[in-house]
Amino acid sequence: MKQHVDISHLSWYQTPASARYFVSFEGDNIEEIRAAVKFIQEMKLPILTIAGGRNSLLAFDEYSGLVIYNSSEGYNLGFDRQLSVLSGQSIWDLAEALENDHGIDLWHRFQGLPGSVGGAVFGNAGCFWLEIGPYVTSIQILDMQTGEIFSKTGEVMNFAYRWSECKNHPEWFILSIDFDLSELREKYASEEEPLLWRERVQPVWLSCGSFFKNPSREQSAGSLIEAVGLKGYHHGGAYFSEKHANFLMSDGTATWQELTELITMAQEKVREQFQIQLEPEVRIIRI
Ligand SMILES: Cc1cc2nc3c(=O)[nH]c(=O)nc-3n(C[C@H](O)[C@H](O)[C@H](O)COP(=O)(O)OP(=O)(O)OC[C@H]3O[C@@H](n4cnc5c(N)ncnc54)[C@H](O)[C@@H]3O)c2cc1C
Repeated sequence: MKQHVDISHLSWYQTPASARYFVSFEGDNIEEIRAAVKFIQEMKLPILTIAGGRNSLLAFDEYSGLVIYNSSEGYNLGFDRQLSVLSGQSIWDLAEALENDHGIDLWHRFQGLPGSVGGAVFGNAGCFWLEIGPYVTSIQILDMQTGEIFSKTGEVMNFAYRWSECKNHPEWFILSIDFDLSELREKYASEEEPLLWRERVQPVWLSCGSFFKNPSREQSAGSLIEAVGLKGYHHGGAYFSEKHANFLMSDGTATWQELTELITMAQEKVREQFQIQLEPEVRIIRI
């Protein structure tokens, strides 16, 4: 375990941030993680898990507790398309490997999805209407309060739009996930080619993807942000993209204060004009 580690690069907004305590999960060092967690629990300090940082805004200067960075990688494709994956594995790389090395194109849409498999399961990431949740058969979890390791089935995770039961359990650290890839499970089909679609509609630079959840299938967060005049609007180094209004961006200089002020501004304006409360899809981590 290290102390006072710079973690600015761990969130894709790259706001200046450090961790009072820091440890990296590499897949085979569970005992080290357990010991670090026990020490932090005894000091009654908080614990933050971060992997790709593609869905996390670090809204602090120094995190007062322990940051567990998940750098574990690897997968095993077994009989009958049963897949086991370490939680820090890049989902984009995995989707490519499944298609190119194993002839399985079920997760073609996840090519271009930044971040880890654990992060994707945590928030039930999806591209068009292909979500990761329906493929989960079981999740191996380290309970950071008790130090126990146990499994949960996919059914009890209550996967829904950008939601899993993990969000109710900040004490759960996802170690690995098992998936059943024997058949395609998607809500609606789409002909869009994921990488070309992303190039066409999404800005490239420092963002965490779509910032707010869409209030409904008919009403997108981006259209509401545009309607209240914030598309392309800059606040210090933070701005909503001209290309996609629901992409909250940093020009490389944005502080977490500028980003969160712009978020609040968008929420207030949308609430005033449309009586709709925009809910972040990106996790804003405060201390
Ligand atoms: C350009 C861009 C495009 C995007 N497009 C999409 C898209 O089309 N669809 C979509 O759904 N998302 C999209 N995203 C968001 C992002 O790719 C996903 O949310 C991704 O799954 C996040 O993974 P991560 O490893 O970066 O998560 P992180 O940001 O590291 O973590 C996200 C959350 O998961 C928790 N977490 C992570 N790992 C674990 C673990 N092992 N155990 C317990 N908790 C954990 C963290 O504590 C945090 O709360 C996009 C992001 C970007 C930057």
